[in-house]
Amino acid sequence: MDTVELAKSLISFNTTTPPGNEEDCARFLADQVQDLHIDGAEIEVQRFQEGRANLIATFDGDGPGLLLAGHIDVVPAKDAENWTSPPFEGSLRAGKLYGRGAADMKGAVASMVTAIASLKKSRRKRSLVLIGTAGEEVGFDGLYAMIKAGKFKQVKARARCGVAGEPTEMNVVRAHKGGVSCKVIFEGRSAHASDPKLGVNSIENCILFINELKGYRRELSRTRNEDLGRTLITPTVISGGSKSNVIPGRCELTLDGRLIPEHTSKSVLDRLQTLIGTLSKRHENFSARIEVLYRTPPLVTPRGDPFVKTCEALTKSTSTIALYGTEAGVYAENGIPSVVLGPGNIKQAHIIDEFITLKQLRSAETVYTRLIKEICL
Ligand SMILES: [Zn+2]
Repeated sequence: MDTVELAKSLISFNTTTPPGNEEDCARFLADQVQDLHIDGAEIEVQRFQEGRANLIATFDGDGPGLLLAGHIDVVPAKDAENWTSPPFEGSLRAGKLYGRGAADMKGAVASMVTAIASLKKSRRKRSLVLIGTAGEEVGFDGLYAMIKAGKFKQVKARARCGVAGEPTEMNVVRAHKGGVSCKVIFEGRSAHASDPKLGVNSIENCILFINELKGYRRELSRTRNEDLGRTLITPTVISGGSKSNVIPGRCELTLDGRLIPEHTSKSVLDRLQTLIGTLSKRHENFSARIEVLYRTPPLVTPRGDPFVKTCEALTKSTSTIALYGTEAGVYAENGIPSVVLGPGNIKQAHIIDEFITLKQLRSAETVYTRLIKEICL
């Protein structure tokens, strides 16, 4: 089994989320793993929506071992005509594999499978698990469907440590912030702009909220986490109004939150609700509600964790932190201490002409193989 060929095959499945369509890719992966004929293997394609599925492959040992995890969906390849080669056709040029998902993160998934294949005849003392999740790029919906269906229990029972193979250039990332994103919807009342008192201006109410939010943002920034710095709550999208001569009846504000472990998504959302309550008391025509778009937990595996030490030794690197969020936070939250460790550069994620170097793919294959040996054999 060859990592580059497998990565090319995975790239050829258009698993853009939304809508996803990850099922064919998950089935292809399941067939690849099935064909290895590994003792104690149980391979499941968990379908959770029309055309959408996760892969869960477990290889039993006597006790819990290692989880290797990656997502099989990709972000859209807009402007396909601006790509040098078609985004859903893995193309090799000058030591690099190009295609949507090459770095984020079908290359890593391919390396995980070849690492497993290279040790298929070895006797395992401890279990090994491979999961390929759908919908990571749209709020981890595949992983949450796996948990909701009770399927993550079998993963947890077999893994005492986990790796999410997001692109870190094979450096060990042991911590990142959590996330929360929500829409605040301001409902006013439309009226002719020539007589504003007949209406309720939702844009002006949104401004009241943004001003009130400033104090909370300042308060949050007073807490500093040693690893991850400070919590950020940023207004990122605003839309409201319909016509120049109409008092806007509706305005929507999207907030992006990046949270240190000291601030939970619940505490932040509760506080935003309190701000709305305060403004409603102060201004009789103020009304707003919150719609949560997604929340993701932080990753905070301690520097001295034995698994972090093992990964550092294997990669000859010192563990670090990341600015982006990953599913590793969810594995950790569900009882599997985890790190992010994968091939390719995060700068390649989500861009035109995304690529991964063949050198990174080989390095991932080597490191994952050694990790399996270290933890499971
Ligand atoms: Zn990713």
